Amino acid sequence: MGEAKDRGTFQERRELAQRAAPDMNDMPDVECKCGSIVFQPALRIKRISPILSKIGKEETATMNVVVCAKCGEQLLGAVLSNMK
Ligand SMILES: [Zn+2]
Repeated sequence: MGEAKDRGTFQERRELAQRAAPDMNDMPDVECKCGSIVFQPALRIKRISPILSKIGKEETATMNVVVCAKCGEQLLGAVLSNMK
């Protein structure tokens, strides 16, 4: 009786694990040129020229990027959210 109950709980846990996000520790790390695998979020501020700006004059927009925590190099292709 107790065994059956335990199995049920195990199955429930498996189902939950499958639905939840995959274990990040199992995934390969992105490495910086310097070999570091630790990154931190940073902001870039983009100038939008008057020609492209909706308000007809130069404005700025922030862009979220990821930089290496060791050497500060920006990790290209790892933009957290697109510039609006
Ligand atoms: Zn680095």
